[in-house]
Amino acid sequence: MRDKPKTETIPACPKCTSNYAYQMDALLVCPECGHEWQPGEAREQASEIRDSVGNVLKDGDTVTVIKDLKVKGSSLVVKVGTKVRGIRLVDGDPDIDCKIPGIGQMGLKSQFVKKVSE
Ligand SMILES: [Zn+2]
Repeated sequence: MRDKPKTETIPACPKCTSNYAYQMDALLVCPECGHEWQPGEAREQASEIRDSVGNVLKDGDTVTVIKDLKVKGSSLVVKVGTKVRGIRLVDGDPDIDCKIPGIGQMGLKSQFVKKVSE
């Protein structure tokens, strides 16, 4: 009996992006950095950051704030409708780093913004 042909391509290593990963039992192994992972795990890890209505956000996008947000440690409020240009996505919570006119650098949660197409 012949083995089933492998038509699946092995994804690049999520750690060092090497293309030489190979399958070992249920795991994928990277010979370059020694990283081992479950197939499919990489796809889940590359999670997209979405705004309040499900648009995928990316660095440099312009968004508007959809509710009044108090700025921690101050009496300032980011008013609903405030336009924020050039957001930067970051790992963590809040997941957006940006500079707000009149307020300065602060973090925003993606669920409180809406992408604007300019
Ligand atoms: Zn690797």
